[in-house]
Amino acid sequence: MEQMFSGHTRLAALFAKPARHSISPAMHNLSFSENNIDAVYLAFDVEPENLATSIESIRTLDMLGVNLSMPHKMAAVPLVDALSPAAALIGAINTIVNDNGHLTGHNTDGIGFMKALEAIDVSIIGETITVIGAGGAATAIISQAALDGVKEIQVFNRKDAFYPVIEVKLQEIAQQTGCNITLQDLADDSALADALNKSQLLVNATGVGMKPNESESPLKDTSLLRASMAVYDVIYNPRETQLLRDAKAAGAKTANGLSMLLYQGAAAFELWTGKEMPVKKVQALIETL
Ligand code: NAP
Repeated sequence: MEQMFSGHTRLAALFAKPARHSISPAMHNLSFSENNIDAVYLAFDVEPENLATSIESIRTLDMLGVNLSMPHKMAAVPLVDALSPAAALIGAINTIVNDNGHLTGHNTDGIGFMKALEAIDVSIIGETITVIGAGGAATAIISQAALDGVKEIQVFNRKDAFYPVIEVKLQEIAQQTGCNITLQDLADDSALADALNKSQLLVNATGVGMKPNESESPLKDTSLLRASMAVYDVIYNPRETQLLRDAKAAGAKTANGLSMLLYQGAAAFELWTGKEMPVKKVQALIETL
């Protein structure tokens, strides 16, 4: 469908660095067009020192709102007027909604993750899951899963200088949600084996296995994988990581990070427009990109 622009056309955007490789413009422009919404979505390379003025321009230009990606997700938090409960818990935002100059920060990454599981018929409410990694993507996933009622989340990370900081953050999420969250050393093989043994789902929330290191996997012992579990990898480049290949070989249900990307975008689109993203059409489009 051809999109026409007018004097009334509203702007939505991605602020990131780098931003030009993003598939969000394709997702949102197709969705505006399919919903007959007079709006356009552009990607802007925004340097950290220009983030505050860029966010101010959301008001100045009466934009619908923006998405934020690396390196702005945490830095943008003090620059908005209000935060959604999930964004406050996570401490990072990937979406800003402009309501007549009042800017609200949301984090739709975790929502996207939970929707992505729904799409493959995996229910983790009341269950135990294991998450490898404790960075930005992991924190969004852990927070949303805890808010939605996952019983226990066993998090594994390398024991580096960041480890004590993560420990405090995870305790805060556990206290605020009532979810039982533990952090353990990724090098502790027996703790990882115990955790996976009682988990319905394993999530890779690290970049291990991403192009060009496609033969790497965050899980060395593939005998810990089994058919009665699901495995979700936040990576979508490549579409099938070594971890997902190993999980498939063990008979487990799998999905890659493309669905999280799709559904975080769908949630942002709905916040800006009140309309549903045509996810099937958008999925078909992004699978070709
Ligand atoms: P981040 O904040 O930098 O966190 C990276 C995490 O991976 C940290 O926990 C880090 O541990 C761990 N890690 C890095 N290298 C490792 C290694 N060699 N072995 C074990 N652990 C390692 O990054 P992020 O923003 O969370 O992104 C992580 C991945 O998620 C990226 O591949 C990104 O593309 C993907 N992602 C996908 C979506 C989606 O929609 N599908 C959304 C956001 C992000 P340390 O603390 O020890 O460094």
